Amino acid sequence: MAPSAKKILYIDLDNTLADFDGRVAELSPEIRSRYEGHFDHIPGVYSLLKPMPGAVEAYHELSELFDTYILSTAPWLNPTAWTDKLQWVELIFGVEEASPAYKRLIITHHKDLNRGDFLVDDQPAHGADAFAGEWLHFGAGNRFPDWSSVLEYLRPRA
Ligand SMILES: [Mg+2]
Repeated sequence: MAPSAKKILYIDLDNTLADFDGRVAELSPEIRSRYEGHFDHIPGVYSLLKPMPGAVEAYHELSELFDTYILSTAPWLNPTAWTDKLQWVELIFGVEEASPAYKRLIITHHKDLNRGDFLVDDQPAHGADAFAGEWLHFGAGNRFPDWSSVLEYLRPRA
C-alpha cells in the first residue's frame, strides 16, 4: 500500500475518545472500593465505555483530513483489557474495512516510538509527553478541553 500523503494523527482512547472515568463513576461502591487505585484492572471495564462528547463525530471528520490512528495503552496485568479495547473500537466504528478505524488500533506502552505529526492525549504517560510530533493535551483544564477545540486547531493544520 502506498504511503499516505496526509499528515499522521494519533488519538488516545481512555478519557480522550472513550469515557473511562464516567464508566468507573457508574460502578457500585463495592467494586470501586475493591479496585481503588487500579480501576484499570476491573474485568471487562473497557468493553462498554461511552464515547466522550463529540468524539465519534470528530474522529470521523479527522480521518478524512489526516492519516488517523488510535494510540492506546492497555494494562499489562489485565489481559482482557487488550481484547476489550479492540471490541470497543469495532463496536463504535464498525468492523468492516470501510470503518475509519479498521486496523488502526495501536496498543503500546511506548507512544513516543510512533512517528507522526499530532497526538491527542489526556495524559503525558507512556511516552505521550516525549512524542516527537505535537502533543495536544486533551481534557478539562488543559489547552484542549473538548473535541470542538481540537477540531478548530487541527482543521487548518491538515
Ligand atoms: Mg487517556
